[in-house]
Amino acid sequence: MSWLQRIEAALVQRQHADAYRMRLANQGGSGRWLMQNERRYLNFSSNDYLGLSHHPEVVRAWQRGAEQYGVGSGGSGHVTGYTEAHAELEHQLAVWLGYPRALLFISGYAANQAVVAALAQADDRILADKFSHASLLEAAAQSPATLRRFQHNRADSLKMLLEKPVQGQTLVVTEGVFSMDGDTAPLPALQAQCRAHHAWLMVDDAHGIGVLGDEGRGSCWQQGVKPEILIVTFGKAFGVSGAAVLCAEPLAEYLLQFARHLIYSTSMPAAQACALRASLNCVRQGDARREALRRNIAQFRAGFSQSSYRLMDSRSAIQPLIVGENALVLALMRHLRELGVWVSAMRPPTVPPGSARLRITLTAEHQPEDISRLLTVLHHADKKP
Ligand SMILES: *Cc1c(COP(=O)(O)O)cnc(C)c1O
Repeated sequence: MSWLQRIEAALVQRQHADAYRMRLANQGGSGRWLMQNERRYLNFSSNDYLGLSHHPEVVRAWQRGAEQYGVGSGGSGHVTGYTEAHAELEHQLAVWLGYPRALLFISGYAANQAVVAALAQADDRILADKFSHASLLEAAAQSPATLRRFQHNRADSLKMLLEKPVQGQTLVVTEGVFSMDGDTAPLPALQAQCRAHHAWLMVDDAHGIGVLGDEGRGSCWQQGVKPEILIVTFGKAFGVSGAAVLCAEPLAEYLLQFARHLIYSTSMPAAQACALRASLNCVRQGDARREALRRNIAQFRAGFSQSSYRLMDSRSAIQPLIVGENALVLALMRHLRELGVWVSAMRPPTVPPGSARLRITLTAEHQPEDISRLLTVLHHADKKP
């Protein structure tokens, strides 16, 4: 098969499986409304959980940062790309979350790849929750270490794997709040297993940071757990983009030497670090926003009536509705769009085969009438043959 034949065969296969992914350019899609083709949709598909992507203080901080520093950082952090704005943000994050050090990355995907790639060696093993994010599983699979997946959120399954002997070191990987299921990891039980077996715990809290715990410090803080490696990302509740790795001093220094993303890639613009400092302030003072989000989640779950689709047992902003077949979930998604409600369909391989779902996300920006509208259209969609 030639390159082109191989590519075309893969595309055709995706189409036949109703798994073809398409982007639609919108005219703004992170807030309460999504604008597309001159039409306004109620937006239940953005991860901007606290509505900070449009916050005036965050926007202004980015503008002022751009005026002061320009729009590009000019190089990696080891060259010109580490400004006082980056340093100050790292310092504030470390103090806020109670770690000696924080290191900035341009994305959560990059942070996960970089940490796993820098740490894992041939005799090591990585034990990951089965439903961990693609960036974690992919990094582990590509590393020289052995990857084993434990049953989702099962400390006993992790224990069985930990009890098998290993030559090198063990890294245990999980998420705080799972991105496709919205459920929460049993962090104290996982941490206890790690401690008993001298393994390190790495928690990716992309969906917990900003939302859970005192001042939005996330899943780990809320559950009283301090993993050796904490990944926080800024594309969700922080409303911006980027990520940070929180860790002890020696690991931070090690990553600065060996994490290739920090050495061979341009760092985030200083202006973005300025915006993130403003966003961090909003997150810390965000109790009213977190309360609004909690109210919206409660209203949605209380109002959701029996349906042929299964609402997952999630108390987070992520409320997946399991539909099953790809074609069905696409039809449901299109039907909701006709009614002015924008929800994303998640299909394999992002989720396990046969568990295609609507991934409904609620935010602090939604009003009670928005949630009622969502409930009404879901109810009506269910009545359709
Ligand atoms: C979104 C997400 C990431 C990727 O973060 P980006 O900053 O968007 O690259 C990593 N892990 C989890 C669990 C996520 O949900």
